[in-house]
Amino acid sequence: MKVVINRWHAIAQWQWDTGRTDEHGDTEEDVCGICRVPFEGCCPTCKMPGDDCPLIWGECSHVFHMHCLLKWIGTPASKQQCPMDRRPWVTAERKVSGS
Ligand SMILES: [Zn+2]
Ligand SMILES: [Zn+2]
Ligand SMILES: [Zn+2]
Repeated sequence: MKVVINRWHAIAQWQWDTGRTDEHGDTEEDVCGICRVPFEGCCPTCKMPGDDCPLIWGECSHVFHMHCLLKWIGTPASKQQCPMDRRPWVTAERKVSGS
């Protein structure tokens, strides 16, 4: 019976894997801060992502589903502020479309 030494490979692999930590903690920016649904999806009000559920950018650089933001801005509690940083909400000009 021969013993083939291949443990070295396994050890090298798990050591390399520990160097990567971008699996956790960095997902906050890819989700809507209001409904917590990823931007590639749509807000809870809509069923299909895409043109019918656009995103809206603020001057503060935060991004939300337009429907989520408009709903939020419509509530008295919002005081017309960004829900993420509580600065007065100003819609950025880059992605304004429709009426
Ligand atoms: Zn949303
Ligand atoms: Zn929507
Ligand atoms: Zn903001």
